[in-house]
Amino acid sequence: LGQDEYRILRDTDLRDYLAELPEVAALLGGSPGGWSISEVGDGNLNLVFIVRGTKGGIAVKQALPYVRLVGESWPLPLSRSHYEHLALVHQARLAPGLVPAVLHHNEALALIAMELLEPHIIMRKGLVSGTCYPHFVDHMTTFLARTLFLSSDLAVPAAQKKEGIAAFSGNHALCKITEDLIFTDPYFQAEQNRWTSPWLDATAAHFREDLDLHVAVSRLKLKFLASPEALVHGDLHTGSIMVTENETRVIDPEFAFYGPMGFDLGAVIGNLIMSYLASAGHERAPGERRSFEAWVLETIENVWAEFSRKFVGLWRDEANGDAYAATLFSGEAGAARLEAERRAYMDRLFQDMVGFSAAKIIRRILGLAHNIDFEWIEDPRLRAICEARSLRLARAMMVDAPSFRTIGAVTKAAREVR
Ligand code: ADP
Ligand code: MG
Ligand code: MG
Ligand code: MG
Repeated sequence: LGQDEYRILRDTDLRDYLAELPEVAALLGGSPGGWSISEVGDGNLNLVFIVRGTKGGIAVKQALPYVRLVGESWPLPLSRSHYEHLALVHQARLAPGLVPAVLHHNEALALIAMELLEPHIIMRKGLVSGTCYPHFVDHMTTFLARTLFLSSDLAVPAAQKKEGIAAFSGNHALCKITEDLIFTDPYFQAEQNRWTSPWLDATAAHFREDLDLHVAVSRLKLKFLASPEALVHGDLHTGSIMVTENETRVIDPEFAFYGPMGFDLGAVIGNLIMSYLASAGHERAPGERRSFEAWVLETIENVWAEFSRKFVGLWRDEANGDAYAATLFSGEAGAARLEAERRAYMDRLFQDMVGFSAAKIIRRILGLAHNIDFEWIEDPRLRAICEARSLRLARAMMVDAPSFRTIGAVTKAAREVR
């Protein structure tokens, strides 16, 4: 096989491959024979290797031609690595310092070598252990406001925006995973669904018969299919965020495409809601995690508040797109009317976020891919209690999103469902 023909790399192949890349080899330091290589991938789809030399380390991600979680029976295109690389480069430009730096990319091998995030951990793990992240709101809302606003028609001329859509339009196999696993499967008897049985059997059955819910999730699915508002990450759960006390990095944008902004916002908020409602299942003494839980609720409120402040600020200062032509909003009356319209826009985005948050919660409890927030609650009865609360809240958020007028209404409902 030629150097650039796809093959699944084992440790030794990877060593030989990296040894031929002078910049990477220099960054690692020492002789290739001395580099340590270990596969650490804990995701559902890909291989991730950590490589360490005498001077430094890197992370190397390689796509497999199938879904890792399921196996070769579920093929998935290698091109997702192309889109992940493209997204990482875009995001680094739009939101500097908030994604790992790309060191090397080989399209044919579906391989990306990137900055090793260390001592960062996956945020979801930190949340399960009850850790607060004081800079998370600031970092995450900068990432969200900048990547979403600066790739939208509010910021970018129409021709450039359409080129962007075209550049990501081939990533439809990854979109299809979302369309099926998040917006469809949890609502019918799909073979791969699972839930904490028997405790959630009745709820799962209700969700399969609930036509109000089926309408609501279908509206969200249509929005996901047909709203190229901005370059979205597409998989922005707390397992795609790596953190230390002071730093935040967003990883794993292989699902990136031009879609609805509310989908990324909903991923963040939905996952924080799950962290909050799973917390009771992780306490070893009553009330032990109370201050952590208060921090999560505060974080949910502040993510929305800070995101909207930053997004509207960008709109005032960096609106170079073709939407809302300045000539139509001249003078004092025009400026006031445009400012009111910005608020109306944020209200609609808030509604989208509420609905998508709910979709992200439901799929983690009734669908194929579950999360450790719930899975690591050992007692299945206790797990089911936490999950049932989450489903109750998510159903209300999805079916009756307009009754949640503010983010405070969401956190209030989360508190009350416990
Ligand atoms: P997948 O697409 O399969 O979910 P991820 O990109 O999420 O793969 O990576 C899987 C795991 O590998 C992450 O959960 C994290 O533990 C580790 N990882 C990924 N990228 C890095 C990095 N740049 N530095 C350190 N660890 C990383
Ligand atoms: Mg991942
Ligand atoms: Mg997800
Ligand atoms: Mg991934």
